[in-house]
Amino acid sequence: MTHHHRSAPAGVAHRATAGYQTVYGGPPAGRWAAPGRVNLIGEHTDYNDGFVLPFALPLRTVAAAGPQSGDRWTVWSELTGETVAFGADEVAAPGRVTGWAAYVAGVVWALREAGHVVPGARLAVASDVPLGAGLSSSAALEAAVLTALVDLGGLDLPAQHQPRLAQRAENHYVGAPTGIMDQSAAIRCRAGHALFLDCRTEQVEHIPFDLDPAGLAVLVVDSHAPHRHADGEYAARRATCEKAAALLGVPALRDVPAAGLDDALARLPDDETRRRVRHVVTENQRVLDTVALLRTGQARHIGPLLTASHASMRDDFAITVPEVDTAVEAALAAGALGARMTGGGFGGCVLALVETDRADMVATAVTAAYGERGYTAPTLTTVTPAPGAASLA
Ligand code: ADP
Ligand code: MG
Repeated sequence: MTHHHRSAPAGVAHRATAGYQTVYGGPPAGRWAAPGRVNLIGEHTDYNDGFVLPFALPLRTVAAAGPQSGDRWTVWSELTGETVAFGADEVAAPGRVTGWAAYVAGVVWALREAGHVVPGARLAVASDVPLGAGLSSSAALEAAVLTALVDLGGLDLPAQHQPRLAQRAENHYVGAPTGIMDQSAAIRCRAGHALFLDCRTEQVEHIPFDLDPAGLAVLVVDSHAPHRHADGEYAARRATCEKAAALLGVPALRDVPAAGLDDALARLPDDETRRRVRHVVTENQRVLDTVALLRTGQARHIGPLLTASHASMRDDFAITVPEVDTAVEAALAAGALGARMTGGGFGGCVLALVETDRADMVATAVTAAYGERGYTAPTLTTVTPAPGAASLA
């Protein structure tokens, strides 16, 4: 082809490249992209050794990267306009690099901890993943940087081992106690599939979730609801689940089968604990039921499972807020096949499974419901499952 050919609209990859040129004065050696994710179903099941089913979003973070001599790393982000540089000493001491660049230093730290010889590098990062919306911009950043460093250094680190390493970066260097879901999704998802992840064994299976041919789409509603007390509430839910598992004499709530739920509930001391356990046990079963439907090509029939998941999060796990309940109710009233809050709760995003030709109606209805209640207007995006982290040509 001799004429100039442009693939995607001058988007995030272009911005990362342009940033690299401006900051470092030459072209990058390559560009690596990693997606945000949304969890189709399976909420607060990860730390109970259970099941989750995320898929990658077409929203991506791109790292343009090139070599730098010595054990030196420099990173620029379009988002802050800042350039942060650090060396081996700062990397060796979690906490030395702070703020957003800690996610980058954390990846270098985790690679070195695992015995890899990490190449010095210059990085320029741009992203279309909204920050802090529950779409996992942090894992997208880690995955883009990790795949860049692995390729630049020719490191022997197969994709199946990369999520654990990125998670360690976030847990130990950044200091954020996340599970393995976000990094697994950013790295291992496939286009047209959801990622069925067993959080105990870390085994993954790619489950067909090809929406376009089925005439379906997922509408993601960013509620913009502030995350009220999210950290404290998350810790409280976790503690309750761990205590309940101990009372029931199992390693984790994952070991309570749905068929044994009533027996388990009868052995628990109070109504609140019973509700929390019921959510986790029924949610794990809903993930399994969703996977079974998708395996047999019945994507349109997962709607009621999504909606039941929301009811369970609202009534039993008590992690929803009025904004997300409103979005779910409005989407369902406008004909969505199913809808639920996605993410840890207390704000964040809602997803709705819709017939493609009803997506606009559902979006309009959600926006109108927010207007009536005086909530900040939500951001609505129609998405289909995208690929995980990859080097861009
Ligand atoms: P989420 O992962 O749900 O978006 P987190 O709080 O886990 O929310 O991660 C958000 C943080 O990740 C931001 O505050 C910022 O420090 C960092 N981050 C993510 N993407 C970028 C980016 N493109 N540039 C700079 N920092 C980023
Ligand atoms: Mg995150």
